Amino acid sequence: MMNRITELFSIKFPLIQAGMIWCSDWKLASAVSNSGGLGIIGSGSMYPEVLDAQIIKCKNATSKPFAVNLPMLYPDIDKHIATIIKHNVPIVFTSAGNPKTWTKHLKDHGIIVVHVVSSLKFALKAQDAGVDAIVAEGFEAGGHNGRDETTTLCLLPMIAGALKIPLIAAGGIGTGRGMLAAMNLGADGVQIGSRFVASSESSAHEKFKNRVVEAKEGDTELTLKEITPVRLIKNDFYFQLKEAYSKGATTDELKQLLGRGRAKKGMFEGDMEDGELEIGQISGLIEKVQPAAEIIEEILSEYSKALEEQKTKKFKF
Ligand code: NDP
Repeated sequence: MMNRITELFSIKFPLIQAGMIWCSDWKLASAVSNSGGLGIIGSGSMYPEVLDAQIIKCKNATSKPFAVNLPMLYPDIDKHIATIIKHNVPIVFTSAGNPKTWTKHLKDHGIIVVHVVSSLKFALKAQDAGVDAIVAEGFEAGGHNGRDETTTLCLLPMIAGALKIPLIAAGGIGTGRGMLAAMNLGADGVQIGSRFVASSESSAHEKFKNRVVEAKEGDTELTLKEITPVRLIKNDFYFQLKEAYSKGATTDELKQLLGRGRAKKGMFEGDMEDGELEIGQISGLIEKVQPAAEIIEEILSEYSKALEEQKTKKFKF
């Protein structure tokens, strides 16, 4: 399955695991890379010394390329960047910030840079900043997302038609059919998050993994747009937010209610009521916790089958 994305990253399949805070440490990243995809360490929830140790562990667990996701609003970003360069990490996915700030520095050190966007405007900005590829993340995605609520179905063709560099689709993809749909809309590869949260290797708390498996259609919502928009599961914390909104809460009051470390409390420590449970809409289709290798195998096998059906299908209009 060779294309611009597999060539860019030197991987076997254009299937990339999202770098998710509290869920994707070296175990998941190396398992995905060892299975022929691209594994990503989510560094946003890691203190600098933690990321350093994680990269060493990942290198010991795989000889294949892997990446680090770097949210640009991370408070000690310069330390993370120094660590990434020190360990010759080959690929960095940047998000939540201006791609102009760090792209040149990373590329001067021979690092492949991919930037995550949720709109056409920012995709073009990232291309101008010199990144090697774009992740276009639609409204369906879990965790932090764009304000405009553009769905993956609309975002992909808009960006694909305007972009020269490779395009990776994200948001709402968790199956082989979903992967094929994204490729049909112009993507060169897919990035999958939620499905890997429910993997055996994910560092998420078991209670959160099980909650993701239980989730049904309609169980998540994109909220907190006044602070940083985030898609999360509707639990007690969500209903507290809803009540605050109904009483006309100010941004400061919402910030106070959110507090600090809620994502850790929910996804890592397993507080299903008061924690922030970030997951995508595709959670409604996730049926069990599986090893990452099995997830990849299932997705690729369904993709091939669907592609074959598509080739032979007699479309009725
Ligand atoms: P909070 O401000 O609520 O809490 C910060 C959390 O990050 C704490 O749990 C803390 O761990 C951990 N942490 C890791 N390294 C550091 C550090 N150097 N300084 C301070 N805290 C650190 O943030 P969230 O939990 O909502 O978000 C966590 C991270 O997620 C952000 O720092 C950011 O990097 C990333 N993020 C990414 C976004 C994106 O990609 N679009 C958007 C928003 C956030 P401990 O509790 O052990 O102290």
